[in-house]
Amino acid sequence: MDRPVRRRNVYEGLTLDRTAERRRDPDWLATRLADKASRILPVWRERNLVRAVPDGETPLPAWLSPDDALTICGAEAEFVLLGVADDVAHFALSLSHLEEEAALAAIGPFGALAELRSIGALLDEGDAAMLAYGRAITTWHNRHRFCGVCGHPTRSEEAGHMRRCVNEACGASHFPRTDPAVIMAIEHDNRLLLARQFSWPPGMFSVLAGFVEPGESLEETVARETWEEAGIRLTDIRYHSSQPWPFPASIMLGFTARALTDDARPVEDDIETIGWYDRAFLRNSPEDETFKLPSRHSIARRLVDDWIEAGDR
Ligand SMILES: [Zn+2]
Repeated sequence: MDRPVRRRNVYEGLTLDRTAERRRDPDWLATRLADKASRILPVWRERNLVRAVPDGETPLPAWLSPDDALTICGAEAEFVLLGVADDVAHFALSLSHLEEEAALAAIGPFGALAELRSIGALLDEGDAAMLAYGRAITTWHNRHRFCGVCGHPTRSEEAGHMRRCVNEACGASHFPRTDPAVIMAIEHDNRLLLARQFSWPPGMFSVLAGFVEPGESLEETVARETWEEAGIRLTDIRYHSSQPWPFPASIMLGFTARALTDDARPVEDDIETIGWYDRAFLRNSPEDETFKLPSRHSIARRLVDDWIEAGDR
């Protein structure tokens, strides 16, 4: 059977070279941070800086020059080397230590802060991937300022791709973390399983998902989460695709599976409704407070859309 060409998920498709070999090259890093052409991607408390564009136009990341960044942050700025594109070095910089008023005053001339969740689907592919990368790694720095082994502070090393404990007796190294989560399109007799949680906005439905636990394969997580949330067993669990999901530090691992029975019911307290939906209903989704498909930037939506289209083949 011919497989359709896979479309990339939002936040995939980074176009720069990560240049890992430069992370331990202080001369190269110093030269690039002194180069006015280098681009600095600021992130303030998980919000990205974007340029002001007229309504309806594609949002664009706002970049600072190294001089602008140093003016805002001073010499203490911890730059994270993202990589190189067209021979221009790209860095991320967390401004999260600034109070809101000071942050807004400092970056106001360059753009406005935006939550990536709300603009991810509107950005060009490479820009979405870049903002996701910058958001994920600066958030990791903000959340790992102390050593999990001994409790002393940590400092950034390797151009922001490692933090090391400053306690010489410990010296533990800590690396950026990514939490694996599975997300699955479950089918039974030409209907798709969708659920909604009490805490979600009115009408929002999605496929099931959950975090991988220690000592578990991805397929086992898919089966366990489905049993825990919906009370049904699965077969034919297959990998679909993955998506960087920097909210704040996940990689979403998409699967498809078939349910052995259709008696799905809300098992966990946080699930309000769970049910089976056919293609005709989903194609004509009301997209209102009674029923909405998952947000366009999510792999959840890709799984739903691919399942709908599979019925056309
Ligand atoms: Zn330590």
